[in-house]
Amino acid sequence: MILYPHFDVNEKGHLTIGGADAVELAERFGTPAYIIDENVVRARCREYLTAAAESFGKDALPLYASKALCFTEMYRIAKEEGMGIDCVSSGELYTARRAEFPAERIYFHGNNKTDADIALAMDMGVGRIVVDNTDELDAVSAEALRRGITQGILLRITPGIDPHTHRAVVTGNVDSKFGSAIATGQALEIVQRAINASGVELVGLHCHIGSQIFDIEPFSDAADIMVRFIAEIKEKLGCEIRELNLGGGLGVAYTEDDAQISYADSIAKIGKIVRSFCSEHNITAPRVILEPGRSLVAAAGATLYTVGSVKEITGFRNYISVDGGMPDNPRYALYQSQYTALIANRASEARDYVATLAGRCCESGDLLGENMKIQRAKRGDILAVLVTGAYNYSMASNYNRIPRPPVILVKDGEARVAVKRESFEDIVRNDI
Ligand SMILES: *Cc1c(COP(=O)(O)O)cnc(C)c1O
Repeated sequence: MILYPHFDVNEKGHLTIGGADAVELAERFGTPAYIIDENVVRARCREYLTAAAESFGKDALPLYASKALCFTEMYRIAKEEGMGIDCVSSGELYTARRAEFPAERIYFHGNNKTDADIALAMDMGVGRIVVDNTDELDAVSAEALRRGITQGILLRITPGIDPHTHRAVVTGNVDSKFGSAIATGQALEIVQRAINASGVELVGLHCHIGSQIFDIEPFSDAADIMVRFIAEIKEKLGCEIRELNLGGGLGVAYTEDDAQISYADSIAKIGKIVRSFCSEHNITAPRVILEPGRSLVAAAGATLYTVGSVKEITGFRNYISVDGGMPDNPRYALYQSQYTALIANRASEARDYVATLAGRCCESGDLLGENMKIQRAKRGDILAVLVTGAYNYSMASNYNRIPRPPVILVKDGEARVAVKRESFEDIVRNDI
């Protein structure tokens, strides 16, 4: 096992992903290629569903934050598992519709929904629109009125928490493009406006404090602030908030240095905390919703590349160049995100070489990692970067007119294409 049980080494010394030989996958589907172990995705869905039902009751609905990894088959998997989904654009809504995802289980997010976005969401009949601000509230209300419907909404609230300081910093995240802040009074104002608005029914509140969070404290701080706010709404405006969506953000281990947390335990703790705050403030516990993205799909994925040039710069460092890079994984360039890499055709050898993994773009920042521990590499080797299921394919670009890799789903050792490799013809499709 390497990092997770679904990454292993077979008798040939090859990396296996969900029981499939990574070298054979590379031969069959070409490189670069995203490989996703479907069983891992499904198991994570079930972990969230079971824990949410235990902690929040039978009507609990964990939502898959689909921006993490979005394609038609992924929505079909979420549908089959009984998850709800969170969509953030018309493109995601369109894809979910193509997968015949039940609209009532869709929560539509985004800090700047266009009129066309709102219209598509209402055409589809999405269960909830998560309204970000007063301009949007007015637009949603007007469109619902025009259609003669009542749209269930949540309001996005900024609780003012910096998840990485482990404490509520009440002014911390107030300065954000997302939501309305409690600290400035704007949150209470938008709640009042929503209560009075026609065409919308204020069902609940939403907050999302960040990503890659390994501790319960930020969620506990958020729950504390949100439950106090719900109590304030009840007291001042006489309105009962029935849904509390605490967002996503639970962390994932990308390297051996990262902690691996139990999502079931985390959910149980969050449930307990919410219930105790509610009884403290004497309010009926709302339906609690969680919106995991990364923790459902990141670990399930790996990206396979072919090694090209290997360059040792005497007195400086070693570069291993691969046939992909920032177009298929922009996360190192954007956030210096750390990954685990290995040579898939010699996976049992020690990772005792240190190298910088370079992509193929004309951009010196096009790296997949620096000073990474890996096996000594040579041209033609298959190189795997692990834990690339989240925010890789969904963030991929065609920079340098590089076609995007395919997404291959592996299940019990069998592989199938979920998204085809882009062709050069695809790249010029819209060129006049
Ligand atoms: C990105 C996002 C999520 C998912 O975050 P993860 O860190 O991937 O779990 C959930 N909710 C909202 C509103 C988001 O923007």
